[in-house]
Amino acid sequence: MNFDTQCLHAGYQPGNGEPRNIPIVQSTTFRYESSQEMGKLFDLEASGYFYTRLQNPTSDAVAARLCDLEGGTAAMLLSSGQAATFFAVFNIASAGDHVVSSSAIYGGTYNLFAVTMKRMGIDFTFVSPHCTEEELRAAFRPNTKALFGETIANPALTVLDIEKFARVAHQQGVPLIVDNTFATPWGCKPFQWGADIVTHSTSKYLDGHAAALGGAIVDSGNFNWDAHKDKYPGLTTPDPSYHGVTYTQQFGQGGAYITKAVVQLMRDFGATPAPMNAWILGMGMETLPLRMAQHSNNALEMARFLQGHEQVAWVRYPGLPGDPCHSLAEKYLPRGCSGVISFGVKGGRQAAERFMAGLKLASIATHVADAKTCILHPASATHRQMNEEELRSAGVSPDLVRLSVGLEDIGDLIEDVAQALAGI
Ligand SMILES: *Cc1c(COP(=O)(O)O)cnc(C)c1O
Repeated sequence: MNFDTQCLHAGYQPGNGEPRNIPIVQSTTFRYESSQEMGKLFDLEASGYFYTRLQNPTSDAVAARLCDLEGGTAAMLLSSGQAATFFAVFNIASAGDHVVSSSAIYGGTYNLFAVTMKRMGIDFTFVSPHCTEEELRAAFRPNTKALFGETIANPALTVLDIEKFARVAHQQGVPLIVDNTFATPWGCKPFQWGADIVTHSTSKYLDGHAAALGGAIVDSGNFNWDAHKDKYPGLTTPDPSYHGVTYTQQFGQGGAYITKAVVQLMRDFGATPAPMNAWILGMGMETLPLRMAQHSNNALEMARFLQGHEQVAWVRYPGLPGDPCHSLAEKYLPRGCSGVISFGVKGGRQAAERFMAGLKLASIATHVADAKTCILHPASATHRQMNEEELRSAGVSPDLVRLSVGLEDIGDLIEDVAQALAGI
């Protein structure tokens, strides 16, 4: 199946007389005839459902759809993007370990890494997404377990050189984890460029309607954990909390990582999506290609308009010729760069706030990447916890306004932005 067809049919093929849409299995529990059968599930000797905290048929169907869209071997859904990022890293790093991350990442991810996971004993080194291979290599330590970056960084809108990051990660014997939230697999498939694991906040374009919070992790199955046995004992040696299961042996290179994240981390942390939310996500993904094309076309037109406006100090949109990441965008995002633009209003922070207050159609919202146009001032919202230096390294200047261009008529959107700029 080609991509557009997968969006509609991957993960769920109804049999004769069965529901055409993915059924919502709104049940915490599943019934069995004998405790022996149930025991086999607990021992991971048979597959089947027993409790929705671990697995649910609705979530699994939607995860399988996303797995196909990314071209992976296994996938899981989580209750939020934050949970997905945490699980993706914590599945292979624990107290005493170290992770290298691009500094241009989502504010919530930065906080999770630099503050909360640091408190759990995991050290992070942040590197510029534009660093040289030598600089990137120099950030690694013997106890480094992963390299992390975002395809299109939120809100800096830098494009990750995935091939470069993957090359260095593999030289150092660790997997590259890529947050593909803004690009979606419509825009970029990080596995094709060497990434090993992909994460998503499905709360953004994948759902697409700002209706359901969610996250996902997809494994490419390409990283050979057994070749680095000492580094990843959690995957390559018996798990005492699961009757001595060795994940790589029992589930293979393509299944070990996600199985461990489900049976160990989901069991213990319980960041499970509601079946209803998984269903909303699956429904949203059906129209992903149509929406992403419209978001990308609208955003490019808006970026051109802003670039030509005298009250706009600067514009960042990787799809704009002349953008510092344009050549990376041409390589990694040939179909379009999604709907998010950042720009600065002349007059700094105060002018930016007056501009935002004057908008009639675009709403001020702590959200991006959904059907309706919205706008945010990150320095006073999502990135509020950062000091000036941290803001700079995350690519967030005080005058930065993040505009998430929706699916409305682009003429209406430009008219709204023009009148708000005129009213500053
Ligand atoms: C929103 C976002 C997250 C966090 O996702 P939630 O679903 O809000 O928990 C992570 N990464 C990126 C790039 C995001 O935009």
